[in-house]
Amino acid sequence: MSRPSRFRRPELVHQLAAELRREITRPWTLMEICGGQTHAILRHGLDQLLPEQLELIHGPGCPVCITAEAAIDRAQELAGRPEVILCSYGDMLRVPGSSARTLLDVRAAGGDVRIVTSPSDVLAIAQAHPARTVVFFAVGFETTAPATALLAHQALGLGLGNLALLVCHGRVPPAMEAILAAPECRVQGFLAAGHVCTVMGVEEYRPIAQRHGVPIVVTGFEPVDLLEGLLQGVRQLERGESRVFNAYPRASQDAGNGAARALMERVFTPVDQHWRGLGVLSGSGLQLRPPYDALDVERHFGASMFGASMARSAAGNGSAPGEPANPCISGRVLQGLARPSDCPAFGGHCTPERPLGAPMVSAEGACAAYHRYRA
Ligand code: SF4
Repeated sequence: MSRPSRFRRPELVHQLAAELRREITRPWTLMEICGGQTHAILRHGLDQLLPEQLELIHGPGCPVCITAEAAIDRAQELAGRPEVILCSYGDMLRVPGSSARTLLDVRAAGGDVRIVTSPSDVLAIAQAHPARTVVFFAVGFETTAPATALLAHQALGLGLGNLALLVCHGRVPPAMEAILAAPECRVQGFLAAGHVCTVMGVEEYRPIAQRHGVPIVVTGFEPVDLLEGLLQGVRQLERGESRVFNAYPRASQDAGNGAARALMERVFTPVDQHWRGLGVLSGSGLQLRPPYDALDVERHFGASMFGASMARSAAGNGSAPGEPANPCISGRVLQGLARPSDCPAFGGHCTPERPLGAPMVSAEGACAAYHRYRA
């Protein structure tokens, strides 16, 4: 009896891979921007089906990986306060801050730290505990930001005075610009993340493609989607084209989700933000705009060490004076300048059980993907 294929549509997968091999004539390098795409590529072994001339490098699209140590430090400091219930998504609890401590450690020491799967959980917790201050540590890209915006809108409408937001959302297009502007950049085209484009549409990508002369192909997460995206990217490169192409039309419309975008624009405004490993990227974050800024965590708790901690986070790898240097090269991994297996700590000092850096923690981190599928 033959073994079942690892692919859902095996004929189409192999047909697309064959087309890629037939059409490519020169070496090209594409970056898949999203960590979900990286995991899918490695999980399905798609990289092993590709022609030798096509190199894939892995992008920074893992929300947990890029959250600044300063923000994690701030979340830990708040979670240690007796009046606070701190809520965030599960992976965020395992990411070390600048002292190598995690939110799980804070919880073990008595802090009230709770895992949520949606901002609506946070609303329910805040309503159930009116005498406590509920802080939502909001991370993620344009995919999760609309739900945070809805939480802010609902909280303000309900007059909920015990909810505060530590907003650390990232925007993908400024990160793509930063990667392309780096002197060492080898990226010649992108697979853009289909779920981000389902919310935001594709218009933000057109000026990037034009300015930098790179194709950007909106791509889903199934093997067929990814191979179709790679084929479209290689076709453009072979023809000398640099357009935005939507290869995921069953989920992403060019205009995105109008209601979600309108709510985001009402609640947030872009702000410069520090990305772990990449530094401060212009316009790459979101901050609450009036009147929603009444929910900002700093308005609730006043001046903090957030700024100073952010500067330290931007300056180094997080090792305190006297501590051994952290060997983590996640900054280079997140920019696609090194592979996880290039890191001296990979699989030895750094494993999913004892991660030294965020890309080994997150379900979307490149180091975790390599450890799971390639180690
Ligand atoms: S393997 Fe661990 S230490 Fe090395 S870059 Fe990845 S997360 Fe950092």
